Amino acid sequence: LRARAAIAEHERTVPDFPKPGILFRDLTPVLADTEGFSSIVTALTHGCSGVDLVAGIDARGFLVGGAVAQELEVGILAVRKGGKLPPPVYGVDYDLEYGTGRLEIPASGIDITGRRVLIVDDVLATGGTAVAASKLMGLAGASVVGVAVIMELADLGGRARIAAELGPDVSLHA
Ligand code: IMP
Repeated sequence: LRARAAIAEHERTVPDFPKPGILFRDLTPVLADTEGFSSIVTALTHGCSGVDLVAGIDARGFLVGGAVAQELEVGILAVRKGGKLPPPVYGVDYDLEYGTGRLEIPASGIDITGRRVLIVDDVLATGGTAVAASKLMGLAGASVVGVAVIMELADLGGRARIAAELGPDVSLHA
């Protein structure tokens, strides 16, 4: 509830960004608010168990994911947009609400085989990003146990897509 109030107070909505017809929800001011940030991290961590790695999605997922990882006393893995990491990488291409995207993680220097991962991002829209991140974890031998987002755009069907593609055992915290 504290998180909901902070979001309602500080969220900025931008019409026609990044394309005409899209209402962009900008949570940047919520994260910059002391109460907003702490209440969101608390809400996303609440009831989370069985996680031994957090994967934060580029870029606002890094901010919240790091704090959630600290609360859960586990490590954090940055899931990068394409082209930011040196090879070798695991990569997954996917469709976005607007355009296409690619996510990558390192394929060397880190072994996440068997880890139980919580994916963290700011906004869940169509679910394409969360599903792509989940496929990446699979490529690296890890399994996704949950997806945590600050805000779910319920009209865009992300929740159903996560259930359909990742299975009913993957929990969604929103
Ligand atoms: P999806 O893949 O369609 O679920 O879109 C989610 C991804 O796109 C997340 O990484 C979000 O950061 C970003 N995104 C989609 N819509 C919005 C929005 O309205 N505000 C901020 N980020 C958004």
